[in-house]
Amino acid sequence: MRNGEGENGSWFQCSVGHEFSAADMDVRTTNMVDAALATALRVLDERAALCADFAGMAAGDHDGGRQTYWQELQFEIEMKAKVVAGLINRGWPDPSGK
Ligand SMILES: [Zn+2]
Repeated sequence: MRNGEGENGSWFQCSVGHEFSAADMDVRTTNMVDAALATALRVLDERAALCADFAGMAAGDHDGGRQTYWQELQFEIEMKAKVVAGLINRGWPDPSGK
């Protein structure tokens, strides 16, 4: 990340090249991380439901091997979703110490 000093104080450049003040860059990067984590959790939940559906279809086909494959994948995805949910619930510390 590029940064420097200008007439209006410190500036920072995002990966695309847009310039932001220090305060705006602080808010912006925090919001982007929050949005990325929320997206990750939503997609992991969707993927876990998909794996459950596929496991159910495999059970209907009496294909125990395929059923186990999708169930194990569902379990792994649910574990990852719990980690991401934990990151979201952890929130952010208040650097001001309040
Ligand atoms: Zn940008």
